Amino acid sequence: MPAAFLGHGTPMNALERNRYSNAWHAFGASVPRPRAVLVVSAHWFVNTTAVTAMARPKTIHDFFGFPQALFDVQYPAPGLPELAEEVADAASPDFVGADRDVWGLDHGAWSVLVHAFPDADVPVVQLSINAQKPPEYHLALGAKLAKLRDSGVLLLGSGNVVHNLRAIDWRNTDGAFDWNRRFDEHARQVMLERPGDAAALVAHRDYAMSAPTPEHFLPLLYVAGFAAATDETPEVLVDGYAFGSLSMACYGVGCGCASDAGGGGSAPLATDVPPEESNI
Ligand code: ZN
Repeated sequence: MPAAFLGHGTPMNALERNRYSNAWHAFGASVPRPRAVLVVSAHWFVNTTAVTAMARPKTIHDFFGFPQALFDVQYPAPGLPELAEEVADAASPDFVGADRDVWGLDHGAWSVLVHAFPDADVPVVQLSINAQKPPEYHLALGAKLAKLRDSGVLLLGSGNVVHNLRAIDWRNTDGAFDWNRRFDEHARQVMLERPGDAAALVAHRDYAMSAPTPEHFLPLLYVAGFAAATDETPEVLVDGYAFGSLSMACYGVGCGCASDAGGGGSAPLATDVPPEESNI
């Protein structure tokens, strides 16, 4: 089973058909049917490492200031409670708690899953990002979780390689600030040439500006760890920029599914979204 990092951008991508959501769809269509998808989402960034373990995870609308249509989205994929134990075993001796009733599927997960697995019939489990841990921990955990590929678990990181909300320019739909482009290209080079080198990923002059808070960047390290552990070379599924300060780069590992999902589409228009009321 392969792995992927998907740059999710604004939640509006859940509703849009554009070159990014088309690439997510193409990825989902290209892989063998997973037993479960294990999602590491930027939007479950807490002070512990936990995995969802409920049979029916709820769809969480963890944003505000967006159209009602986005709040109406439901992604009713089942959970897979027994996977919590398998994740804990794979991560051992690091501790992974089982969340039976708190979280569910946040928009980092469902905004890409509605495109990758639109039938919502593949079980989905989320793994939290432990905010207390350094980059090396997340890369190492991704490497340990790689062994779950043999039991049909697809590892999916959902975030953005570059994500700086304070710098966002809603009118600059497909553009990038220079520091965004520089860091995104640096990350691409490391991902393609030495994905196991977490230190190299974050040791860059533009890292602080590109990931002023790390939660959108860290899911990439899980997929980098997967690539390092499996000795598979990541490939770019699609790339591009949004609103000056987001990178939309997506990577697949072990899928052989890179394709030009382009076609001249564009990132979603979101000029009607008040930046101060957004949480993407
Ligand atoms: Zn986000």
